[in-house]
Order: sequence, then C-alpha cells, then structure tokens
Amino acid sequence: MSGPEVLIVGGGLHGLSAALHLARRGRRVRVLEAGHLARHASGFSAGGVRTLGRHPAEIPLALEALDLWHRIEKLVGDDCGFRVSGQVKVAESSADLAVLEERAASLRSSGFTHEEVVDAAELRRLLPAVAPHAVGGMVTRRDGFASPYRTSLAFGRAARALGAEILEGARVTAAERRGGLWHLRTADGAAHAAPVLVNAAGAWGARLARAVGERLPLGFNAFMMMLTARMPAFVIPVVGATSRPISFKQAESGQVMIGGGHKGVASLDTGATTLDVKRLAYSARTALELFPILAETRIVHAWAGIEGVTPDDIPVIGPSALAEGVIHAFGFCGHGFELGPLVGDIVAQLATQGSTNRPIAAFAPARFGGAAAACGAALPQPAG
Ligand SMILES: Cc1cc2nc3c(=O)[nH]c(=O)nc-3n(C[C@H](O)[C@H](O)[C@H](O)COP(=O)(O)OP(=O)(O)OC[C@H]3O[C@@H](n4cnc5c(N)ncnc54)[C@H](O)[C@@H]3O)c2cc1C
Repeated sequence: MSGPEVLIVGGGLHGLSAALHLARRGRRVRVLEAGHLARHASGFSAGGVRTLGRHPAEIPLALEALDLWHRIEKLVGDDCGFRVSGQVKVAESSADLAVLEERAASLRSSGFTHEEVVDAAELRRLLPAVAPHAVGGMVTRRDGFASPYRTSLAFGRAARALGAEILEGARVTAAERRGGLWHLRTADGAAHAAPVLVNAAGAWGARLARAVGERLPLGFNAFMMMLTARMPAFVIPVVGATSRPISFKQAESGQVMIGGGHKGVASLDTGATTLDVKRLAYSARTALELFPILAETRIVHAWAGIEGVTPDDIPVIGPSALAEGVIHAFGFCGHGFELGPLVGDIVAQLATQGSTNRPIAAFAPARFGGAAAACGAALPQPAG
C-alpha cells in the first residue's frame, strides 16, 4: 500500500476531526499523537458547545459548527453526550444588562440573532435557582454541552473506520522538507513522509511550526475545572456571568462542573499541570454567589488542561505563510471544542482543494508577520 497523503500531528479533537474529514474525502491520512488520544486539552475540556459571546471572527464558524453538533451522531456514529441545554450569561446589575443589550444590538447590525437578551422573569424561568440579585441575561437556546473525551474518541473511531491510521505514542521530534514531501521522525525512530502536514499540536503548535520554518507567537494556559458531589437537578443550561469569569453546568450525574478560565501552572516540556487552589477558591465563591444552592455540596475533584493561547485570543487556522504544504489548526485559546467538528472540514478543504469557502482570513498564520525559522530543527521534547 502506498504511504499517506497527509500527516497530522496531534491526536486531540482537531487532529482527529481533520483525519475524519480527510478520510471522508478518500484521502490516505496518518495521525501521529505523542501520548494517547485526547491526552491534553481535548480530554480535559469542559465540553461547552457555545456560540454565546464568541469573538466576531469566530461567529460564522461557531454557528456552522453548531449545526454539525445538532447532527453529530450522523457524522461520527455516537451522540458524543451532546445535549441541547442552551447557554445563559447572567446579568448581575443594570450595567451588565446594558453590556448585553449593546452586544445584541451590534450582532443584529451584522445580521446575527442567535444571542437573545432576556429579562429577569425569563432568566428565572430558565434558571429557577439563580441568586435574587440577577436582573436578566443573554441566552443562546441551541447551544449545549457534550462529553469531550467521548467526542474525541468518537472522531478517532469514525476516522479509523474510513481507513485513517492513528498512531499513539508517536512523538514527532524532527521535521524536514525533502523532494516535495514532509519527512517526520518520531521518538521511537520511525520515519513518516507525506506531501501535506497538518499541525494540530495544540499548545505545542508553535514548536512544530518552528521546526517547519515558521515562528508563530503562542503562549499557553493551564485552564482549571472543578467538579462537585452529586446534587439534585437544579440547572439545565450552561451558565456564565457577564462581568466575572465563571462557567458552570450540571451533568446528568447531578455533579456540577465549574470553570471559567482560571489558570493553574503548566510545563510544555513535561505536560504536567499544577492547580492554583486560591484561584479555584475564588471560582467556587463566584459560583456560590450566583447559585446559593451550591452551599449544599462540596468539591470532589479538580483538574487543569493545557491549551495554546494566541496574542489576539483567536486560533491559528490556515496554510503556513512560509512552509510549503503545511496547514495549521492550533491555539484555540480555551474555546476550540465547539469548533472542532467544523475546523476539521476546513482543514480537509485546504488540504485537498487549496482553499476553503469558510471565512478564515482572521485566523491566518500570516497575521503575525510571518517570521521565518530554520526549517529542519529538532522539536523541543513535547509531553507524552
Ligand atoms: C479546562 C478546559 C476547559 C475547556 N472548556 C471548553 C469549552 O467549554 N468549550 C470549548 O469550546 N472549548 C473548551 N476548551 C478548549 C478546547 O478543549 C480546546 O480548544 C480543544 O480541545 C483543542 O483541541 P486540539 O486538538 O487543538 O488540542 P489538544 O487536545 O491539546 O491536542 C493536541 C495534541 O497534540 C499532541 N502533540 C503535541 N506535540 C506533538 C508532537 N510533537 N508529536 C505528536 N503529538 C504532539 C499532544 O499530545 C495533544 O494530544 C477547554 C479547554 C480546557 C483546557
């Protein structure tokens, strides 16, 4: 059998979604994952399927991705735990409400009506347990949440069923362009070659970019989450606040998952994360202030996941400005889960047609100035 046409580095949701969409187009594709599938952000995600509050450049993609979520079982043969719960951003003051009204008006002027401002009565109908000081909110009724690990594995399974090769324990340590092919070497000494290389290496995306000859600015965060003990059902939508970083939802198990972008500490070299307990306590207090009923439970688990973060807080999606045959899809800044099912299709379009009909100009790697790096340099060791 002949070798792969596309090599994908990274077995998180984005690498696996690209693999599925390429395999659906009949392409020979091989995924190289350093550890095991969904080992990093995609396995630790909160799983919010959220179009609410998106950066303007992300809105068209988020809305199209949401349509895919509503038929996810058709795409991957598993419902991925997707539930249409709606998402609500609570206004805790009239100033908050004014911010939401301004946002809704600005969206309407661009033709988007998916974010809807609601008054206190409707807010209380949606969130009967919300604190008395809440005065209204913003709701996206078709949003929801899904199970991140299950989703990632479902994409991997569906891709494999269509012939994609997915290798775990395959840490890419070097990349070189020779004879019209990308030659990758993995830590176990194996060699892999294909004309097209997809960089879906998440928080390690800039390391791979540099090895193929392009410097891109990428930081990383260890976003933290907490899980409570089981509680009687009291909230259906995923909830956020307008002027405080908080996000939470109650799972079918009755456990409440609390997040919102609070950061711990991480190392890209080891893949290890350390929780910042003070920040977690602050996050728990915020949740308690919004939903006093949480005083009846306790935190039973907390974790952090490493995610790539760009200077403008939107991902890098598109062909490399400098390296021939390289397509980047990384740096999702804490909100790439919802986009996963669609971005894989965009990557597949770019790999097979050289273009996409989706509006991705804002995500172009070239927006950072396109500084060259020495191609062929070894990658710093990523996490296993
Ligand atoms: C705690 C947390 C909560 C979140 N909540 C939400 C949410 O509610 N909604 C939402 O939309 N998004 C959310 N996100 C963001 C979302 O989970 C991520 O944007 C998404 O999972 C990123 O997927 P990825 O495939 O780009 O990266 P990853 O899942 O990190 O995958 C990248 C993979 O590349 C591999 N890799 C790296 N370097 C190499 C190499 N040299 N060789 C081989 N493999 C390599 C890594 O091992 C890793 O498995 C959250 C993220 C976190 C951390």
